[in-house]
Amino acid sequence: MKKYRTCILLALVVVIALGGYLYLTAKNITSYIIDAQLDTHVMALTGRETVKYVNTEDVPLKEIYFHLYPNAFKDETIAPFPPEEMGRAYPDGFSPGYIDILSVKVGEEDIQFDVDNTIMKVTLPHELTPGKTADITINFVVKLPPSDGRFGYGKYTVRLANWYPVVSVYDSDGWNLDPYYAIGDPFYSDVANYTVRLVAPAEYIMASTGTARGEENQGNRLWFIKANNVRDMAIVLSDRFKVKSGEYKGIKVNSFYFGDDKIGERSLKYAADAVKYFSETFGKYPYSEYDVVAADFYIGGMEYPQLVMIDRSLYNKNNIFVLEEVIAHETAHQWWYGAVGNDEVEEPWLDEALTEFSTVMYFENYYGNEVAERFWKAYDGFVKKYADSPRSITDPVNEFKDGDEYGAVVYEKGALSLKRIRDEIGKEAFIKGLREYYKTYKFKNATVEDLIKALSKAADKDMSTYFKKGIGILNNLNLFQPDVIAIKGIYPEIAKYPGTNPFRICIHELL
Ligand SMILES: [Zn+2]
Repeated sequence: MKKYRTCILLALVVVIALGGYLYLTAKNITSYIIDAQLDTHVMALTGRETVKYVNTEDVPLKEIYFHLYPNAFKDETIAPFPPEEMGRAYPDGFSPGYIDILSVKVGEEDIQFDVDNTIMKVTLPHELTPGKTADITINFVVKLPPSDGRFGYGKYTVRLANWYPVVSVYDSDGWNLDPYYAIGDPFYSDVANYTVRLVAPAEYIMASTGTARGEENQGNRLWFIKANNVRDMAIVLSDRFKVKSGEYKGIKVNSFYFGDDKIGERSLKYAADAVKYFSETFGKYPYSEYDVVAADFYIGGMEYPQLVMIDRSLYNKNNIFVLEEVIAHETAHQWWYGAVGNDEVEEPWLDEALTEFSTVMYFENYYGNEVAERFWKAYDGFVKKYADSPRSITDPVNEFKDGDEYGAVVYEKGALSLKRIRDEIGKEAFIKGLREYYKTYKFKNATVEDLIKALSKAADKDMSTYFKKGIGILNNLNLFQPDVIAIKGIYPEIAKYPGTNPFRICIHELL
């Protein structure tokens, strides 16, 4: 997600104004078949989901956990927005959103299930041994909240994001059962194949993850959506959408917008330019279609596979630069988060810092070094404002006190650290490393160690040293307390020391 930070971005505008469809349909990945019907009179949908869950772990599983993210919208006190933003999140006042689970079956057998707010535990009738598949069918009802965030409905759009029961990730830490935090994009998922049939009123146009076709019938439209190797399934509907489409090497790029056609065309150009540049730089975009969608979304932009939501208020001449920046940022997420996934709760910097760094690369490519330098200066200024923050780049999302601290540390300080590493090893080796990282971890989840491994291979040296140097440089500038970028996991003994000062000692010793 790109937090829209008015002060910095407007400052930047002023400054700059002066100046095959890669169908790797692995047989052993989980698949979802979802049938849903949207009733826009009551803003609710009924759904049935069959998950063919494949146990890809090396241990038998007795239960399977699901995220029920819509339940985070049940109550004003837990809604996933910072308290000071509730007015913008619910412009017409708060009203609950939720998901009710009606039944769960495994095969033909009705199964006991336990729901604890945003988590559901499904106990399997028999242990699922490695390599085996369980068919889990869930009947549910979703009530949409009148919210201008990722999930809900507003004046122009209905947004279905994180809207169905999503299987939690099982990894070396076991099941990941984090709640829906108000800061960052607190999601973590494995790629899966999706078949979705959605019935919606015929006057609604739909943008979605995957590719879709619609058939009209008696005032409704049945949308048939297919998406392979994606880690989320998002849908945005509107009865007012205009659409412009373009193409880059067989990848269809669509801009869904409202109002001014020229701005709609511009947003298409920015998206296509970003797909082109990132494909050429990191490796080809792995899907056949990409939608950039104007939405009632007050927070800048939000990434989903093959679909990004962009704040519709940015679609005007005054915000054209910010619009381009947000589209470039969300498009870079198609590589970092979308194709190469990561735990966005535990290591949010991994995709956000890479994405922010890639955004500057986009501007460097299309507008030159001088423009890129202005970005870096702006980021540096923002980081300095948070010089007293005790947080480090590698902290989990729930440890940050607010969105601005999170933005300064995870996005901007993270991007600056990557820049320092690039400056150390040279652009060529750095890009080579990112290409390797993309190629190796596409459709998988990666960790910081994986990134270091890829960069080490490209630079032909142990890059953990350079990551440490990056920290040292930042210390010298007195921007922050010593950081632990990349050290977590490599020097696990450091993690034994709580607080910041022991880190300083340890890092000093390591350097
Ligand atoms: Zn982002």
